[in-house]
Amino acid sequence: MLTIEQVVEVKRLLDEGRLSRRGIARAVGVSRGTVDKIANGKRGLVGIPPAEDLLERSAIAQRCPGCGGRVFMPCVYCEAVAHRGAVAGVESRAA
Ligand SMILES: [Zn+2]
Repeated sequence: MLTIEQVVEVKRLLDEGRLSRRGIARAVGVSRGTVDKIANGKRGLVGIPPAEDLLERSAIAQRCPGCGGRVFMPCVYCEAVAHRGAVAGVESRAA
């Protein structure tokens, strides 16, 4: 799968018109067929996001393994439950 950066770069070089499709394929590191598809509008300008984006995205919202909710990790709810449990444990021991 191509990254969105590769796809956009191919499109940019095509629009620029200085390199041949073969040259663009070599420069960007994609197949000649991919360049043809982008040139013919047969391939949308979509791709997997760059690595930084993937990291950022995973930091946005995840399925919490603890409560199953879609949350920002670390899960505040589970931390609160764990904290309450710890406090309750201390209190029950104190009582
Ligand atoms: Zn949770």
